[in-house]
Amino acid sequence: MAKVVIQECREYELNGLMKKINDGIERLGGWDLFVHPGDKVLLKVNLIGPKSSDSAAVTHSEFVRAVARILKQRGCEVWIGDSSGGAIAGIAPTAKSFRAAGYEKVAVEEGAVKNVFGCIPGLRKARYHKMAPNPESFGEILADIHQNAEFKLHIMDGIFAMQGEGPTAGDVYPANKILMSTDPLALDVAALKMLGVEVGEVAILGAAKERKIGECKLEDIIIDGDYKAIPKLDNFKLPKRYKSGKKRNNKVLIKVIDFFKTAPMVNRKKCRNCNVCVESCPVKAINRDTKQIDYKVCIECMCCHELCMYKAVELKKENFLADILTRLNRGKYR
Ligand code: SF4
Ligand code: SF4
Repeated sequence: MAKVVIQECREYELNGLMKKINDGIERLGGWDLFVHPGDKVLLKVNLIGPKSSDSAAVTHSEFVRAVARILKQRGCEVWIGDSSGGAIAGIAPTAKSFRAAGYEKVAVEEGAVKNVFGCIPGLRKARYHKMAPNPESFGEILADIHQNAEFKLHIMDGIFAMQGEGPTAGDVYPANKILMSTDPLALDVAALKMLGVEVGEVAILGAAKERKIGECKLEDIIIDGDYKAIPKLDNFKLPKRYKSGKKRNNKVLIKVIDFFKTAPMVNRKKCRNCNVCVESCPVKAINRDTKQIDYKVCIECMCCHELCMYKAVELKKENFLADILTRLNRGKYR
C-alpha cells in the first residue's frame, strides 16, 4: 500500500516546519531510508518564474530552508535547483527567479548550492510542449521524467496554495497542509481529493496511471500524519479551464464543454511588453507587436498564461454567448 502523510501547518516558521517534516518522514520509514551522510541531495523546487515566496506560485523559501537544514544536519551536501519557464533572448530567467523567491539568501545562509538547471533545462520545455500538444501526450513526457529521474521522496508545500488561475495568476489560499510520500501519483491523488477532484478527471495523469508510476486508487492509499482521512479544502476555486480539461467521454458533455471552452488572450492594459509570452510560445502563435494570438496555430498549452508575471494573459470564453452566461451567473451584469 502507498502512504501519504498529511500534516497541518499554518505558517512558515522554521522550527515548526522542521518538526512537521521530520515527523512526517518518520512515518514514511525515517530519513535513513532516503539519505546518508555524505550524500549529494538535489531539492527540486518549484520555481516557475521570478515570483516572491508569498505569491504561492513557487515553493516558499522558508520551506526550502527547513528541508535544507534537516539534510545538512544529517551530513548531506544540499543542492537547490530548478529551471524556470519563459525566456528572453533565449535565456531562461532561473537566476532571477532564485533572487525573487529568496532562495539565493537561503542558499548563502544555509551553505547550500544553487543549481539553475532543472530536470528539463532551459528552452527544451517549449519543444516538448510542441511535441505533446494535449494533456494526455504531455502526461507521457512527465511519466518519462519520473521513470528516468528516480525521485526518492516528494514533499508538497501546501501551506500557501494557489487557487483559481494557477500556476501564476491565481490567489493565495491558506490550505495549511504539508503532504509527503514516496509515491508521486498517490500524493497527487490525495491532493486532488482535497480539492474535490478525482484523478480520472485529470487527463495529464493518465500516462502515470497506465504506466503504474504509483498508486491511483484511493482505497489503496494509507493516509497518515495529523490526518487519518483526506481533509477537504472548503471553497477552493478551481481554474476556469478545469471543466474543459475533464475527460471527454460523453457527446452531450463534449458539446457543453466546447461551448464554455476558454482561450488565452492578452489584456493590453496589463501587458508590460516584456515578450516572455512571445518568446516562450512553442508554436510562435503570438504576434510580437500586437500580442494577438493566432488561434489556428495555438495548441492551447497555456505557457503564455502560466509565464506572464503580470497576469496579462487572461482566459476568456471562446464563445461570446458563453461568456455572457458565465458573467450573468456570477452576477456581473446586474
Ligand atoms: S502578455 Fe505578459 S508575458 Fe506577454 S508581453 Fe505582455 S507582460 Fe509580457
Ligand atoms: S498562444 Fe499561448 S496557449 Fe497558445 S500555443 Fe502559444 S503559449 Fe501556448
